[in-house]
Amino acid sequence: MKLDSDQKRVELHVHLDGAIRHETIYDLMRKNKMKLPGDGSFEALSKALTVTEPKDLANFLKPFGIYIQALKSLEAAERVAYEFCEEMTKNKVAYAEARYSPHNFLPEHQKEVSKLSGLKQVVEAITRGFKRGEEDFGPKVTSILCGFNGDESVDDVLKLAQIFKGEGVVGIDMATKQDLGYNPEEVKLNSQAIRCYEEARKCGIHRTLHAGESGGPEMVQRALQVFHAERIGHGYHTLEDENLFQNCLRDRVHFETCPHSSILTGAVKLDGHKKHPIIRFAENDANFSISSDDPTIIGKWVDSDYQLLEEWGLNAQHFKKANFNAAEASFLPQNEKAELLEVIKKLWT
Ligand SMILES: [Zn+2]
Repeated sequence: MKLDSDQKRVELHVHLDGAIRHETIYDLMRKNKMKLPGDGSFEALSKALTVTEPKDLANFLKPFGIYIQALKSLEAAERVAYEFCEEMTKNKVAYAEARYSPHNFLPEHQKEVSKLSGLKQVVEAITRGFKRGEEDFGPKVTSILCGFNGDESVDDVLKLAQIFKGEGVVGIDMATKQDLGYNPEEVKLNSQAIRCYEEARKCGIHRTLHAGESGGPEMVQRALQVFHAERIGHGYHTLEDENLFQNCLRDRVHFETCPHSSILTGAVKLDGHKKHPIIRFAENDANFSISSDDPTIIGKWVDSDYQLLEEWGLNAQHFKKANFNAAEASFLPQNEKAELLEVIKKLWT
């Protein structure tokens, strides 16, 4: 790894399909002759893409609808992957696991012809982008493939993770489409998704899972006990069940926390008195790391999440710990993880 001396962060929870420069989206939308918001200017697009007021997850996810069609080509896929690496360097990141739904990049015509071979080409294009990015900018980036609970995409990402295991893909993730607002009855235990996670476990494919973001602690419990997730995406609401939280501390369950996103999605509501769950994680020496989630929508990359945490009172020691946690919890093969830990150790002393 050729890295700058201050490049010592590890980011584990960032959606590549939500980590695209506004300039690139503008360019791709114009190339695709797509309708731009407002007066069609870059400024109007940038404003439409950025969520600045906390509301709920559904509101937070809305801007994806503006540009997702512009991503549906292999060129776009490789380009955003390559540019992502440059952004990681600017944000002092040495290693990132970028997750994405390959379906978001699948060219329309491929859906009909051969979906799996189209999806394979998407993963190859993104891996190519990361490789070129690593050569030009330094940081190492691997892929986590993300499916949605309740449709066949989880099956697809499992197949792809099996095909590309050891070749740039390190794990799978699942987000829950139903998880729009906290309504536990709506979040169904989907047998197909459970089977996929079980199969992944058998094949040695690493697994993370979005849980306890807008959903309650029972979602975290379910992620751990039913899906056997190795890491929890967000997990803030774990704290509503003290027993569960104590068990997570004991078992060193890793929480991928995303400060700005936690506020803007309405997952965490700060009412002036309550401590943010990340502060509690830090105070209790929970196993957590710091990520950005969706820089495109937040309008800021992970560096600003560190700044926010600093404002909340976290210090250099907390950041050091969080980055060691992240490296330890990464889905890299053992030898590469040891190498990453060496790098991190040198840079944080
Ligand atoms: Zn996420």
